[in-house]
Amino acid sequence: MVNYKELGLVNTKEMFARAVEGGYAIPAFNFNNMEQLQAIVKAAVETKSPVILQVSKGARNYANGVLLRYMAQGAVEYAKDLGCEHPEIVLHLDHGDSFETCKSCIDAGFSSVMIDGSHLPYEENIALTKKVVEYAHQFDVTVEGELGVLAGVEDEVSSDHHTYTDPEEVIDFATRTGCDSLAISIGTSHGAYKFTPEQCTIDPATGRMVPPPLAFDVLKAVEAKLPGFPIVLHGSSSVPQEEVETINQYGGGLKAAIGIPEEWLREAAKSAVCKINIDSDSRLAMTAAVRKVLAEKPAEFDPRKYLGPARDNMEKMYKHKIINVLGSDGKLAK
Ligand SMILES: [Zn+2]
Repeated sequence: MVNYKELGLVNTKEMFARAVEGGYAIPAFNFNNMEQLQAIVKAAVETKSPVILQVSKGARNYANGVLLRYMAQGAVEYAKDLGCEHPEIVLHLDHGDSFETCKSCIDAGFSSVMIDGSHLPYEENIALTKKVVEYAHQFDVTVEGELGVLAGVEDEVSSDHHTYTDPEEVIDFATRTGCDSLAISIGTSHGAYKFTPEQCTIDPATGRMVPPPLAFDVLKAVEAKLPGFPIVLHGSSSVPQEEVETINQYGGGLKAAIGIPEEWLREAAKSAVCKINIDSDSRLAMTAAVRKVLAEKPAEFDPRKYLGPARDNMEKMYKHKIINVLGSDGKLAK
């Protein structure tokens, strides 16, 4: 058993309180390899932003959970080496699917876990979330619950439809489970194919496809029921069209991939939404840079020559999100 505090990690409690108060959101970036982690930490250090490193089930299967935990510990030391004296880095389990998974992550040094009981009947979701909270809080680990179902596919989590969070349930859920934050469903969606072109309208000014609006009324109703309570948005990649175009220009075959417009997320970040999850945009940034290098320099076989530019491209994207979308730059406590 290792407590995250020994690793220099922090839980989400204080950073969420400051984010809700200050009208911005903390970035939650998924990672499963070294270049991605370097890009996240460098972007967070250079913008002086707190950051949440997320580990999904797919990441644990790909990279090994033990290794990822040590990489997160390394991330704290890397941030210090880059000149950040007091980094605020959370190691968070994304979509924990059972009590046992959450417990094993807490025991291994995670500072925050999500228990996703959103697919369960309401009372079962409450019982499972409460059980995780009772275990986690003994070690000052924060817990994210989920109410409502997101559409889309990401790693092991998938659903073919979404169900908006019912604002009438949130007080009961938060009170009875004791969770520290709540992921809600207001129309964001997992993966790079969040919407079909048929669901979208065309913006006459830019010619770009605009997805159906998010249910900001649901968000406002949730906020009214639980003033100041930290709200989480999953599936919030914007699927930058320039990355999609680069991928397709250099031999890729992405179909009409459509994400959440950044101005909508900026608006959400000003509310009680204090954690915004971004994964697909990092995958796109990495793939676009790798494809470009390999297409332009077909004789290249040193992975550093294409993973280096991929890392640079991800770092640029992370900084853009922190500064222009979430507003968490310059928000370290000290
Ligand atoms: Zn998610």
